[in-house]
Order: sequence, then structure tokens, then C-alpha cells
Amino acid sequence: MSRFDTYFLMNSDDIIEYVKEKLDMFEKDAKLDVKEIGDGNLNYVYRVWDEKSGKSVIVKHAGIELRISKEFKISTDRNRIESEILMLVDKLAPGLVPKIYMYDTTMCACCMEDLTGYELMRYALMRGETFPLFADDITTYMVNTLLLTTDVVMEHKEKKALVKNYINPELCEITEDLVYTEPYADLRNRNHVFPPIADFVQKELYDDQELKLEVAKLKFDFLNNAQALLHGDLHTGSIFIKKDSTIIFDPEFAFYGPIGYDVGNVIANLFFAWCRSDAEFEPEKKESFCEWIHETVIKVIDMFIEKFNASYDEHVTEYMAKTPGFKEHYLDGILADTSAVTGLELNRRIVGIANVKDITTISDQGKRARAEKICITAAKDFIKNRANYKTGEQFWNCFMANVNKF
Ligand code: ADP
Ligand code: MG
Repeated sequence: MSRFDTYFLMNSDDIIEYVKEKLDMFEKDAKLDVKEIGDGNLNYVYRVWDEKSGKSVIVKHAGIELRISKEFKISTDRNRIESEILMLVDKLAPGLVPKIYMYDTTMCACCMEDLTGYELMRYALMRGETFPLFADDITTYMVNTLLLTTDVVMEHKEKKALVKNYINPELCEITEDLVYTEPYADLRNRNHVFPPIADFVQKELYDDQELKLEVAKLKFDFLNNAQALLHGDLHTGSIFIKKDSTIIFDPEFAFYGPIGYDVGNVIANLFFAWCRSDAEFEPEKKESFCEWIHETVIKVIDMFIEKFNASYDEHVTEYMAKTPGFKEHYLDGILADTSAVTGLELNRRIVGIANVKDITTISDQGKRARAEKICITAAKDFIKNRANYKTGEQFWNCFMANVNKF
């Protein structure tokens, strides 16, 4: 019998006892330090370390209620999904995710590699740091995890087994509400709208029926297109970064969905970083940082396309998927989804319940309002005209054309 045979919400002392019992990393009499370092919306994240041996571990522990709001109650199964995904992805895209030491479906806890020394990409970008390897790393991650888990590459029954294993109804429901519904109709009265743009939001989002129709189509595609095993929340707060290394973590929204969902999230979050820099940085720093974002957006799209094409040719196993013209058709759909999701993510982070610090910390109210209007206007373009953007340059030009309206 162990104290950890039945679920309870662990505190710091429990966590120390827990890692000693579950891992053979620490001596039984080691004096361990522990700190809760979670800053996310969902879970408790503890760092446990032994000063003497220099060893450390991260324990991610799921509560029954979300930290962001007690209104959401979600299954603690998300912890299993996250751990299993990270172990699978470590095989598909080695070196780009944290190592999992063990996970435990009873305590809803997962012990993983301590990535102290890396920084959350969002905060690094907010300070104007640039990362020369990012576009290369993130496109490798996306092509390997996404294309290699599709029906184009996998045996269909094996793929369906993954679909089943990673069915994630509660986390998907959050996305369905927060990304695909509430930015267009504040049904639960919980959107965070920056007051100076309230009229703009009413007119441009809530009252635009043409936009709503397009989002409705996209929502039902998100619900039904089990294309590839997504990360599901691939924003710059799910990426740990250093100059020479990129680690993608926190895939608890993972499930089988449209590939463009991940790619579009990356692009939208690069645009948030651009907006912040445009509003906050001194001219010289602004120029070099914005230029890096420009290059990076273009590279993320173009390298994704290039690696996708190469990987498709190398790994395609499906007879019909080898039919000339099919690869182009398939990629075309992915790029349209990428454009649409770029727009959906831009909108939901501006008006929804989960805003991004890049934008909310813009100190000048007028500049923040301008940044928010740019994002919403560009978002509508990316959603409504999603069939038009097929290259990095076209994605960038769409964004810039909308920046120039304000
Ligand atoms: P949530 O799902 O609750 O958002 P995250 O996985 O995003 O939890 O983790 C919250 C925070 O905890 C991260 O932003 C990061 O600062 C820290 N963290 C998470 N995993 C690790 C890790 N493996 N190494 C170091 N810090 C981590
Ligand atoms: Mg998180």
C-alpha cells in the first residue's frame, strides 16, 4: 500500500515523497528542495532538486479544476495523453520534446526532464531575442509529428488506434468554445475585450455574418477532420528555447485534427510578437526584431512546404495517395487550414478568455488598441481568403497589408 494509490491533489511535501517513491533518481535520505513553478492555466508544475547531487526533475500534476477558472472541470486523463504523446513524439522528432521518466494515471502526474536553463519563447520574444534555428526546428517538429501520423503514411488500422487512444473530448471542447465560437459570439459573457475596441469587436466580429459562416465551416472541419496527431496548442508559451535548441512541450490538447491547426498557431503567435515589438521597442531594435519575425514567418511556411514535400515522397505508403496530383491537393488543403487557423488564433487571443501577454502588456493604450485592430483585421483576411495564401511571402504580405490599414 502506498499513499499514492488513490488520487488526491498533492502539495509540495507530498511531491517530495512522491518522487522519492516513484523514481530511482534520488537517494532515499536525500534532502530535496521543491518549488511550484507553474504559470499555465491548467496544472500544477513542481521542480524538485537535490542540491548535493545536482539532479532535478519536473512533476506535472493535474488538478480536477482548471487554475484559470473553476468553471471548467476537465478530466485528468489529459496527463496520460500528454505523457504518451511526448514519448511518441520523441521517436518521431527526436530531441525536440522533453524526456518523460514516468507517468502515473492514478495520481495524474508525470515526471519529466527539467528544462531549467531554457526560456519560454513568448517571454524571450517579448524582450526582442531572436532564434536562428527556430524555423528549422519547428518545421522539422511539425512535418515529422504531423505527416508521419496521417493515413498517407500510416497503416489505416494503426492510425485509427491512435485516433482512439488520443480522443480528447474535454480539451477539444475548450478549443471548440474558445477558438471556434466565443470570439464570434460572447455566449458565456466571459470574453476579455479591451474596452477601447469594444465597438470595433462588435462590428468586425460579432456582427459579421459572412465571417461567422466561414468560422462555422472551419469549426465542423476541426470537429471531423482526423488528419494527423496534433500538438493542439502550439503557441510560443508551449516552446522552450535557447539559441541552439528548441523544445516543444505541453501537448495536453493533443488529438487527431487538421494539420493546419498547429502550423497556423505558430504563425499567429509570431505576429503577436511582431505587434508587441512594433508598439514597444526603440526604432533600431524594432527594425532588426521585426525583420527577424518577417524572415521567420516566411521560413516557417516555406520550410514546412519543402520538408512536407520531401517527407511525403519518402514516406508515402498509401497506393491512392501516390496518384499524381494528390500530394498537391492535400498540401493545398493544409495551407488553407493554416491560413484560417492563423486568423482564428489571432482573434481568440485578442478577444477571448485567454489573452496573450505580448499584446496585453503593451503600455500605451492607443498603441495596444491599434495592435488589436491590426490582428483582428488580418485575422478576418486569413479566414475569409484562406484559399489565397500558399507561400511564406503571401502570408507575410497579407499581414502587412492589414498593418498598413492602421
Ligand atoms: P499548463 O499545462 O498548466 O499550462 P505547462 O506544461 O505549460 O502547464 O507548464 C507551466 C510552466 O511550468 C511552464 O510555462 C514552465 O515555466 C514550467 N515548466 C513546465 N514543464 C517544464 C519542464 N520540463 N522544465 C522546466 N520548466 C517547466
Ligand atoms: Mg501550458
